[in-house]
Amino acid sequence: MSDSPTPNPPPASTRLALHWKVLIALAIGIALGSILHYGWTAETWKSLGVVDVKPFLAGKESDANAGAGFGAHAAKFAVDACSFVGKLFLLALRFIAIPIILSSMILAVASLGDIRKVGRIGLKTITCFAITLVVAIVIAIGVVQIVKPGKFVTPEAKAKLLGDFSGELATKMQAGAAAQNQTIWSFLLDIIPANPIAALATGNMLQVVAIGFLVGVGLTMIPREKSTPVVAFFDGLSSTMMELVRLIMACAPVAVFCLITQTVTNLGFGSLASVLLYCLCVIGGLAIVLLIEYPILIMLMTPRSAGMTPKKFFAGLSPAITLAFSSSSSTATLPVTMACCRDRLKIPASIVNFVCPMGTTINMDGTALYQVVSVVFLSQLYGMDLSATQLLTVGVMAAVVAIGAPGLPGASVIMMAVVLESVGIPTEGIAIILAVDRLLDMSRTIVNVAGDAVACVVVAGWEGALTPNSERQQPEPIGPG
Ligand code: ASP
Repeated sequence: MSDSPTPNPPPASTRLALHWKVLIALAIGIALGSILHYGWTAETWKSLGVVDVKPFLAGKESDANAGAGFGAHAAKFAVDACSFVGKLFLLALRFIAIPIILSSMILAVASLGDIRKVGRIGLKTITCFAITLVVAIVIAIGVVQIVKPGKFVTPEAKAKLLGDFSGELATKMQAGAAAQNQTIWSFLLDIIPANPIAALATGNMLQVVAIGFLVGVGLTMIPREKSTPVVAFFDGLSSTMMELVRLIMACAPVAVFCLITQTVTNLGFGSLASVLLYCLCVIGGLAIVLLIEYPILIMLMTPRSAGMTPKKFFAGLSPAITLAFSSSSSTATLPVTMACCRDRLKIPASIVNFVCPMGTTINMDGTALYQVVSVVFLSQLYGMDLSATQLLTVGVMAAVVAIGAPGLPGASVIMMAVVLESVGIPTEGIAIILAVDRLLDMSRTIVNVAGDAVACVVVAGWEGALTPNSERQQPEPIGPG
């Protein structure tokens, strides 16, 4: 590659920052998706010669669609291209997630130098995760018990949702069967992989965090001349992956547009009406966590001199927030969350490398809140009044699920059966909330991601490692533009 400068690059100030481009793409995608969902009907396909839409879009030959003309094929190409770009973008982010978690964790622990410091920061991190988790669960119980959304669903709407989504539920339950058979002991034993290579190959996040942690601890205990080359290798790997994040994020506006257009086109907003109050409870609870709990924590736990205001926090984290919303995956968002914390919020790499990978794996306040609101909502819908002990059980089980759930789209719904069964609520009730899960998934993923960044800020504050206000500069862009 030549080093010669690009002729007349536009001045930085006139270029739109990446997060604005992503936000604009998000808004256009939602608008276009709504138009397509409500405007592009079976009649539209018929006018293009497509009678049986599903097999046509799946690329299957069918006599009914023999009359499909150029317009129909062009529309199918647009749908396929949109899906391809969205999937490619998420794959690219997932591709770098494992190497980033592994190398970051190893570097973080090794750079702390001695095992006591690892223990201290580890304890602070877990304390912060626990505080935010408990508060999120308390908020969830408060909101759902005050509003009682389950009492407002009509029996007809309940029967319709149960019928419409029972097929999808069966598929999800199969995927979640393994989670239901787990006890807390087997869950803990599962964290240590018998075969680290297999854990890396299958992408078991919690095990990858454990491998990184243990290798990092080992590196602090051997002579420096032996550990230096290993640390240098993982340092190089980590820097390479972070550069790839910048490259991938340059495509974010297009990818976010494709992802959101697809989601809204497929789902629309129709199913929202009958469970609107439930959705408002989840979104309201998430908003309280995001806009009240987190800012209070940031203000209380960081020294004034660091100048870490909630406004600065959200401005710095905005690329990760928009990506979390459009991808519904905190694992896919992890590389961007780390880049935001390090480059825009100026949190030391040693803390970001330690807190973020661990947080993505076990710190999911949004997921816990969602579990509690959903389970209590279903209990109200089935006319069961939960006792205080049962509410406590729901809270504890929701915390366990939030720790164990992978940061992937729809992960919570699969694992909800565990919480429902703990208090004897019929698991087929999940069908009722499946209809609106995507929107709620996008929203809770924002909180999951923001919770990790909050933990980074708080732990850095406790360690006295936040960049003082006077030395803080404008947020750095992620990716070109
Ligand atoms: N989609 C969420 C995440 O990636 C997990 C969940 O389903 O709650 O953080």
